Amino acid sequence: MIKSIIRKDEYRAIYRFLDRVSPLDHDCGAMCGAACCGTGDDRQWEEKMGIYLLPGEDKIHDRRDDWLSWSEESTEDYVFPPSWKGKVFFVKCKDAPRCPREKRPIQCRTFPLAPHFLDEGHLVLIWSTGSVPYECPLIKEGVKLERDFVRATYTVWKHLVRDPLILDLVEWDSIEREKEGSEVILVYDPLRPDLNEYIKGED
Ligand code: SF4
Ligand code: SF4
Repeated sequence: MIKSIIRKDEYRAIYRFLDRVSPLDHDCGAMCGAACCGTGDDRQWEEKMGIYLLPGEDKIHDRRDDWLSWSEESTEDYVFPPSWKGKVFFVKCKDAPRCPREKRPIQCRTFPLAPHFLDEGHLVLIWSTGSVPYECPLIKEGVKLERDFVRATYTVWKHLVRDPLILDLVEWDSIEREKEGSEVILVYDPLRPDLNEYIKGED
């Protein structure tokens, strides 16, 4: 399994920190039937849908927990940065959208935002891009997000990219977006305090 410099207690602290925030001040899953937890009606996506844990994130999960099914995937079989050599954990929720909220993986907690490098070392948050079988209404309608959620998500990604492998992943994803011509919509940039279109209470 690929190694991480992020310690178990750091992952625990990150989970606790993100437990306190949500994209909206109410459950956004009510808007869409928790679309990002499922595959919609598209059965072709059933096998592919799931969550890759970040390097080392498995340390704070118990593989005997019955709400997740686990598999180990070779990084060579999927699109990962070249530095990711070995296996990564891929988890699927058995009873989505029901899950122990305090155990949701990081990818669930920071969606619909994604970390992105505009330039070397210049980390921003954007609306998540990528091919998925559902449409997130927050992204589609450009709904304003809770400021605490945005700031906490940024703090967490800023911390996570101290890990060389996670840094490589975020840099890789950023370059891939550019190559694919994906639309990159900025939500938060610490160097742009004027950027407030998608954050509550910043107009
Ligand atoms: S993040 Fe988007 S897709 Fe996921 S539950 Fe909230 S509104 Fe729905
Ligand atoms: S862990 Fe929870 S929030 Fe994340 S995909 Fe599974 S059911 Fe949805």
